Amino acid sequence: MARDTPTAYDTRPAHDTRPASVVVVGAGQGGYQTAASLRELGYPGRITLISAEDALPYERPPLSKAYLTGTADETQLWLRPVTYYVRQSIDLVNGTVTGIDPAARTVRLADGSEYDYGHLVLATGARPRTLDVPGAGLRGVPGSALRGVHTLRTAQDAAALRASLAAARRAVVVGAGFIGLEFAAVAREFGCEVTVVEAQGRPLARAVSVRTGEYFTRLHERRGSRLLFGRSVAALHGDRRGAVRAVELADGRRLPADLVLIGVGVTPRTELAAAAGLPVGDSGITVDSRLLTADPYISAIGDCAAFPQVRSGNRLRLESVQNAVGHARLVAERLTGTFRAYDELPWFWSDQFSTNLQIAGRAEGHDTEVVLGDDPEAFSVLLLRGTRLLAVESLNSPVDHLVSRQLLREEVDLSPDEVTAEGFSLTSLMR
Ligand SMILES: Cc1cc2nc3c(=O)[nH]c(=O)nc-3n(C[C@H](O)[C@H](O)[C@H](O)COP(=O)(O)OP(=O)(O)OC[C@H]3O[C@@H](n4cnc5c(N)ncnc54)[C@H](O)[C@@H]3O)c2cc1C
Repeated sequence: MARDTPTAYDTRPAHDTRPASVVVVGAGQGGYQTAASLRELGYPGRITLISAEDALPYERPPLSKAYLTGTADETQLWLRPVTYYVRQSIDLVNGTVTGIDPAARTVRLADGSEYDYGHLVLATGARPRTLDVPGAGLRGVPGSALRGVHTLRTAQDAAALRASLAAARRAVVVGAGFIGLEFAAVAREFGCEVTVVEAQGRPLARAVSVRTGEYFTRLHERRGSRLLFGRSVAALHGDRRGAVRAVELADGRRLPADLVLIGVGVTPRTELAAAAGLPVGDSGITVDSRLLTADPYISAIGDCAAFPQVRSGNRLRLESVQNAVGHARLVAERLTGTFRAYDELPWFWSDQFSTNLQIAGRAEGHDTEVVLGDDPEAFSVLLLRGTRLLAVESLNSPVDHLVSRQLLREEVDLSPDEVTAEGFSLTSLMR
């Protein structure tokens, strides 16, 4: 994460208030929400929503939860039925954008068709990283991995994973991030033997506190999964028919497997922006606090955008529904004449077995962790730097989560002595 000076960009005029047409590249959470919010705000111009996926816009969180377990079908993933787009005059186009001409203000699709735009919104999301080891496949080359080796980003990925899971007996999950652990929980519930291999020393190392990480280690171990930390994968081995059979670790150990999920993070899809000459960093497409790129006719939002967080001055790229939706709403407001900097409090959730984790705020740079609550299955972890509350992780504690969002928005100061005192609770603070 880089320090940034939000003001460097933000003083530029926005040339494109109320453009005649808006083209959105990517019809995921952020792309869909941009179109929907524009119409909610009374935007009268043409809206074209271009999707590389041959599906109605859908939400991704159930792909590693209800959809995988079979309790939600594909239609329940849809953000809206097809009639919505017809009624709202949102043109859904199935195709892949291959180039942007910023001077002519057009985008070109793989089939050669072109669309001109008054304003362009890049909502291209991210693609899963894969492992650079034999058997794991080549990035972007479908079918190059051994059969039974999966990544999980799209509904198509989830359908393939669900089919594999139905027949699997031994699953190895590479990466103890949210997607890896959510899948591991479902696989256990399906009766699979599950081993999670993680290069770091603990689960969710980039995302949660040590205390919360320990909780998830215990949760998965109690449910019968094996978690191996500080280990990396050297190769995936298959049988003569090309189906995965084992995962070989760097220490030479072999883990038998008939299903492997690689959950080692994502790479933002920045190539279109880079080819159009827009500034792009390792962490995403560079935007200002209004989510404008260096070209005032092009915005970038959601998982692909690296934006300056007004509160901290850090440049961030977040992967969450709330971030994509919040970005989309802000861009829709800007395009209909209301200006503000993006300053929403980040929040996120994950469901594993019957545990619900909700995180409010960002814990980077915290120096103190304080656990609130005596119930080992329902508690919150407060993360502070000095007396500043930075983030709260709430496990099976929805009320704490709601209260902490309010406290974090108000940027309250709390001393560690105060929060560790007998009888302290977040709700008492609100009173
Ligand atoms: C399995 C899974 C579980 C998740 N669970 C949670 C959760 O519990 N809580 C939470 O907050 N978040 C969760 N997330 C994250 C959340 O879904 C994402 O942060 C969110 O979808 C980001 O929205 P987006 O619009 O930026 O990108 P996406 O939703 O990824 O949409 C990007 C779209 O752009 C398309 N696209 C890319 N390039 C082009 C192109 N050149 N032309 C046309 N189309 C293009 C892609 O095909 C894709 O459809 C989860 C994600 C996954 C994958």
